[in-house]
Order: sequence, then C-alpha cells, then structure tokens
Amino acid sequence: MSQTVAIATLGCKTNQFESAAIEEQLRGAGYTIVPFEEGADLVVVNTCTVTARTDAQSRNLIRRARRLNLQSRIIVTGCYAQVEPEALRRIPGVAMVIGNDEKKDLLRYLAEERERQLVATDGLARGRGGVALSLTSFTDRSRAFLQIQNGCDAFCSYCIIPYARGSSRSVPFDEVVERVERLVGSGYHEVVLTGIHMGAYGLDLDPKSSLTELVLAIEERTEIPRLRLGSIEPNEITDRLIERMATSDRICPHLHIPMQSGSDSVLKRMNRHYDAGFFHRLVEKIHRSVPEVAIGVDVIAGFPGETEEEFDQTWRLIDHLPLSHLHVFPYSRRPGTPAAEMAEQLDGALIRERAAKLRSLGEAKARRYAERFVGRVLELVVEGGEEDGWRRGLSRNYLGVQFRGEAEPGDRVWVRVEEWTAAGLRGSLM
Ligand code: SF4
Repeated sequence: MSQTVAIATLGCKTNQFESAAIEEQLRGAGYTIVPFEEGADLVVVNTCTVTARTDAQSRNLIRRARRLNLQSRIIVTGCYAQVEPEALRRIPGVAMVIGNDEKKDLLRYLAEERERQLVATDGLARGRGGVALSLTSFTDRSRAFLQIQNGCDAFCSYCIIPYARGSSRSVPFDEVVERVERLVGSGYHEVVLTGIHMGAYGLDLDPKSSLTELVLAIEERTEIPRLRLGSIEPNEITDRLIERMATSDRICPHLHIPMQSGSDSVLKRMNRHYDAGFFHRLVEKIHRSVPEVAIGVDVIAGFPGETEEEFDQTWRLIDHLPLSHLHVFPYSRRPGTPAAEMAEQLDGALIRERAAKLRSLGEAKARRYAERFVGRVLELVVEGGEEDGWRRGLSRNYLGVQFRGEAEPGDRVWVRVEEWTAAGLRGSLM
C-alpha cells in the first residue's frame, strides 16, 4: 500500500514552487498526496524565516503534524531549516532537517534506510548551485509559478534570505523558455516568473543575460497568453522592460517593487542602493508608459532608529504615488543580520502602530485603483472553487473579481465589472 504524504508550505512564491516540485517528485515515486489535516505517514514542512512570526508558524506546523499522527515521519526543509537546523532538529517527531539545496535530494534520502535523524544543510555552502527543481504542472493552481532564479547577493541589512538561499544563480536561458512552453502544453494561460532576486537573473550565466532579455524571448518563442513578473528590485526595472510592457498584450501590466522605505536615511541604513527620489521617478515613469499598470510595493514599518519624520517621509511618498496595493511588513529582528545589531530597536507597539497606519493607507489606495475598473470588461483567469455561489478570477492587472456563472479553475473568462464591494470587485460573465 503506497505511503501517504502531506506538504505544508510557508512563505514566498519560490517556496511554493519548490513544494509543488517536491510534490510532483513524490507523486512520481508512488506516494499518495493527502491534505495536511489527514495526518500522513510522511509530512514535509517547507519553512520560511523571513520574520519571527514565520519561524513560530513553522514550529507550530511541525507540532501540529505530530499531534495529527504520532507515527508521522516529519521532514523539515526551507529557509528556517537552512539557518536554524539545530533548533528544528530538537522538536519531537522530526526525522530529517534538510536545507534548501537538499530539497532536490529528498527521494534519495527517503530511499536510504536510516535509524538516526538526518540533518543536511551544507549544499548551499558547497555552492552546488543551480536551480535544480522543475515541474510540469501544479495540482492546485490555475496559474503556474516558474522559478527562474534562486539566491541573493544584495545583503540588505534587515534580510536573512541571502544566508538561507545562498548566492544568486539562474536557470539557463533556453531551459526557462522550454519550461514555459511545457506549461503552455499543460494548458496554463498564465505563467508567473519567480525568484529570490529576479532582477539579478542571467548575471551568472555564460554568456551573461538579463531578466528583460528573458521576458522578450519568452514572448517571442512561446504561446503563453499571460506572462506575469514576480517581485523586481527598483533599480533593476529597465526602460526596455517598461516599453515592452506598454505595448505587449501578453506581459501582464503588473509590477511588484520592494520600496521598503521612502526615507533616504533609512534606505541607507537598510543597505538599499537607491533613494526616495529615484523610486518616485521610477513609479511615475512606469505609470506614464503603462497608465493602467498595477504597481504593488513592499514597505517595512519600524526599521531600527526610524524617527517620526522618517516614517512620515515614507507615508507621504506612498500617499503621493499611483500605487495599487501595499505589502506592509512590521520590522522583524532577524538574528545574524546587521540590522539586528543596530542600537535603536523600536518598541513593538510603535512598530505595530506604524504598520497599521501604512495598511490603512494601502487599503485606501487599493480601493481607489480597483474602482477605476468598474464598468470595464476584464479578462480573468479563474482561481479556486465556488464560494457562496461566487467564482473568483484574477485580471491581467492583478485585480480579483468575483462573478456568478459556469467556469472552471484555470479557465480564461471575460467579466464586466459592475461594482466595488468590501469583498472586492464583482461583475457578470460576458
Ligand atoms: S534583495 Fe534584499 S530583501 Fe531581497 S532577498 Fe536580497 S537581501 Fe533580501
């Protein structure tokens, strides 16, 4: 009787892509994938360590897996496992702690008979490199995430990711194009390119390449109807990419740009290599070229030493810019990062207060952006099942729209947007 396995994933699109690839490997090896709540024979917890909160969520998932089935063999992987293997190894029920690079060796580890616990996280340090995991389809996704790059060499002072993901490395150019073509062959209407530091794509390849060249090649050499870009650093968005987004009917008019702060002095302490003026001009340039573009930004609230004035500078810049949504991160002290050693760590209540202010600003901007599309017909890719008689789809410009009518996850449909509600935009199927 085949063994059952459950996979629980925290964190970014790259981690989700890797979990889907692990699932495909295990399914291919004869395992039966079951929901986490069923207490599987084997449980893979793909952790995240971007904040103290995700660390806690990762530990809770491991403990829950154990409570669901005392016999479960628990495999812990992901960024938390990479940077804190010892802390996780000690949690009862953990059979293996493997690093991010070791994810591709999971089947080999499972095949090896072993009594004792396994801890293997040195692949990154040995720079075995590459982005080894690939997959042909997602079981529960109507849009396909495709990892094109891994790792980061930027070392922003607050960020633990370079320590968890290693140096930047890219999937070979032609291989990415082939993988997109395979996903088109599997029936996907949308591919989302993801990476840890996607703007660094191609710098490590021989011959060198770039994200912009890759996007143009995917558009030229594949039939993918919708190509969406994951997060790109502000100083890595090229004019050519903006121009192509302005004229293309396949590159989705949506950019996600980590801003992190609108204060030059804070950006300096964050070791970010642009200033508020640059960010301001970049967003206005994109907006002039692609007037309906959705621009989402990441912003950190409460960075060490952030004064009232510095916070106001961030708030005012966001308030002024034509942004469509915000991802607000309350600063989280990450042991091992330079920011964690900075003197003026702010009080938790102040951090939460500033994060709340930014979130409500973000909600107001998201509503203002969404309301611009009431009365318009939007093309959606249907996501997930029916809820209370409503289906939901995602537009090219990253708007969620609910509608009634017959459609399956993954379908491309056209909906006339009729109203903005607290649950988001609603409309009727054309
Ligand atoms: S660019 Fe900065 S924030 Fe992004 S992963 Fe790299 S170090 Fe972290």
